[in-house]
Amino acid sequence: MVYADVILPLPLEGCFTYSVPDDLQDKVRRGVRVAVPLGKSKRYTAMTMRVHGDKPAFKCRDIISVLDPSPVVTDVQLRHWEWIADYYLSPIGDVYRAAMPQGMKDEETYRPRTERCIRLPEPLQNADALRKALDGLAAGRSAKQQKAFETYLALSHWDNAENGMTADDATEITVQELQNEARCTPAIIRSLIDKRLLEDYQREVGRLNTTARPHPENIKKLSTAQQDAYNKVLFEFLRHNVVLLHGVTSSGKTEIYIHLIAKTLAEGKQVLYLMPEIALTVQMTRRLQDVFGDRLGIYHSKYSDAERVEIWKKQLSANPYGVVLGARSAMFLPMPNLGLVIVDEEHETSFKQQDPAPRYHARSAAIVLAQMSDAKVLLGTATPSAESYQNTRTGKYGLVELTTRYKDIELPDIKIVDTKDLRRRKMMTGAFSPFLLASVRKALADGKQAILFQNRRGFAPVMMCRDCGWVPRCEHCDVSLTYHKSTERLTCHYCGAVYMPPVACPNCGGKEIVGRGYGTEKIEDQIRDIIPEARVERMDLDTTRSRNAYDRIISNFASGRTNILIGTQMISKGLDFDNVAVVGILDADSMLNYPDFRAYEHAFTMMAQVSGRAGRRGKRGLVVLQTREPDHPLLRQVVRNDFATFFNNLMDERQTFAYPPFTHVIYAYLRHRDSATVSAAAETLAASLRAMLGQRVLGPDRPVVSKVSGLHIRKIVMKIEPKVSLKAVRTALRQFQTQLAANPRFAAVTVYFDVDPL
Ligand code: ADP
Ligand code: ZN
Ligand code: ZN
Repeated sequence: MVYADVILPLPLEGCFTYSVPDDLQDKVRRGVRVAVPLGKSKRYTAMTMRVHGDKPAFKCRDIISVLDPSPVVTDVQLRHWEWIADYYLSPIGDVYRAAMPQGMKDEETYRPRTERCIRLPEPLQNADALRKALDGLAAGRSAKQQKAFETYLALSHWDNAENGMTADDATEITVQELQNEARCTPAIIRSLIDKRLLEDYQREVGRLNTTARPHPENIKKLSTAQQDAYNKVLFEFLRHNVVLLHGVTSSGKTEIYIHLIAKTLAEGKQVLYLMPEIALTVQMTRRLQDVFGDRLGIYHSKYSDAERVEIWKKQLSANPYGVVLGARSAMFLPMPNLGLVIVDEEHETSFKQQDPAPRYHARSAAIVLAQMSDAKVLLGTATPSAESYQNTRTGKYGLVELTTRYKDIELPDIKIVDTKDLRRRKMMTGAFSPFLLASVRKALADGKQAILFQNRRGFAPVMMCRDCGWVPRCEHCDVSLTYHKSTERLTCHYCGAVYMPPVACPNCGGKEIVGRGYGTEKIEDQIRDIIPEARVERMDLDTTRSRNAYDRIISNFASGRTNILIGTQMISKGLDFDNVAVVGILDADSMLNYPDFRAYEHAFTMMAQVSGRAGRRGKRGLVVLQTREPDHPLLRQVVRNDFATFFNNLMDERQTFAYPPFTHVIYAYLRHRDSATVSAAAETLAASLRAMLGQRVLGPDRPVVSKVSGLHIRKIVMKIEPKVSLKAVRTALRQFQTQLAANPRFAAVTVYFDVDPL
């Protein structure tokens, strides 16, 4: 008898064994998908890992059918999945789910060429009709329908109807997108369609980029400094698999990547180009397409599933993309002949997947993938992560530095403004200091642009009763709610729950419930008030939910249609605009005072990066950095762009307190509806961990947000120094997890680990 070990697309550890009927035996192979039964009536598309003759001790069931004539994942990919599952303590079923597009795990729902979309029916396409429709819905008492409809309006931008919007300005939204964003069922959308508030239609998808020929003549000639760096990278690759290119902002790192890509393609190999954020792929796509034409493929989560399936299949064909550009999920595409991986903005925390499992770091996972594929890795950044930079110091990675901007334009002039003093003297206009406002005005008068950076979205991050100090909080989470003006709702940024703002304080009956603090939405409001003639746009999670939104906002700013761009950390990353004279950092303090050992690292990086958007062409740029702590040592390092001092101080601190890169940190999280149960479970787990790891275990504690979506959370911290075998620790953690689950009292407690958390 022949058996197959398969992975199911479920959050389950390990493989499941099925027997292979005679007529399927010559078809089942590692890497092909098979349909298998589970339970009474369920069927799943499983991935074959191993075919063998070892009879299992239990009776197993037959495979139903084999779905592929040849493997749809390569051997390297499967080994990579296994590494991720093992290292990040994630069930392999979760890795399979994250790695493959949905359409390949579930043949039945896979429709290759069309996607169901929804739009506003014509009669509703004006502000008056929309207002009536909204009132009607509000009266109809279906909160779910109302939420779904409002979500649709926000996604499509019909919530801007009063500004003379037409159907052409609306963003296309798929039914799936709306379901995800509004967290609603298909039935809710169905009822909106029945009420003629929405209508659905089929949109054709899957038009891959197949038109443009490559144009090698568009490759820019490198400057002397760049050529030098390029040569050094190649030299370092002789001795290292991983090289860090540390080049100041606008030094031309991207041009160096382009030369390396061309060289790799010329050698007949493929390149994987990872960026931390989908927003960035927009500009990069244009730059790469100019040179590589139809040899370039783009892959990320805003692509429809059908498109992702199509790209996946192309990578297995005789004519795969030579270069694939994408966010972290692009790493899971088949690359049968991988030669080079570029991890751009390698310091970025969005390379780490937080939720759901697998909680992997795309930089680390990409390095492992490259090792398995015999490929090289280039990490590029102006602000290296502590881990990567330390690896260059110990000689594990090669280091190449590029210290001058292209055309020797000076790095921006960073001016610190003391907002504490200004507030005392009543000289602030909302969130703005006089100097920042004057600088923005001057930039606009000179025909230049400005970027305003505020790392909180929404209007007012906290609401508060003026009389008694009561703060509205989420019913399901241990956090205060953020007021969003565009929707006139309070929103929980943890679970997404939406609430009506209270009319009166439930605590004292007070009528004045006022917003505190500044979110990007409020910054936008204020600047529109202060400089009404400016054309302003905002880029944050709320304005970029649809796939085309990034593209539109970025091209509007790049082409000068907007003068001022406001945004969260999304705009701090490698965007390249020609005409930005001023960058305003509205509130440096929120970054400095964050309770986490990485706070300074993140603050330095974020401020240096956002500053780097200023003055990239022509004249030197200006950065206005507003803070209540003007003498903070970290700010001085930012002003001088003094990475060396910053890094040395950081390493001293990390070593003293035994934090990465001097240790590996693993967090264990436990979640349960009942606070006492989760506490007891956490104590039990911590006791087992302490018996093995002693003082390396801290906690259990309540994390900063100790309840999310009705589940209470406890956290245990482990710091593992290099001399302890991580592998042994991981094995023990899995065992303890199983033991805990076997205890009837704790069976319903969810336990998961976060390895190398950020
Ligand atoms: P980085 O990635 O280091 O921030 P970029 O590669 O984006 O820098 O370069 C900054 C700007 O300077 C880009 O618009 C780029 O096209 C331009 N540039 C850099 N190097 C060259 C070059 N050798 N020839 C022409 N333009 C260049
Ligand atoms: Zn009150
Ligand atoms: Zn919540």
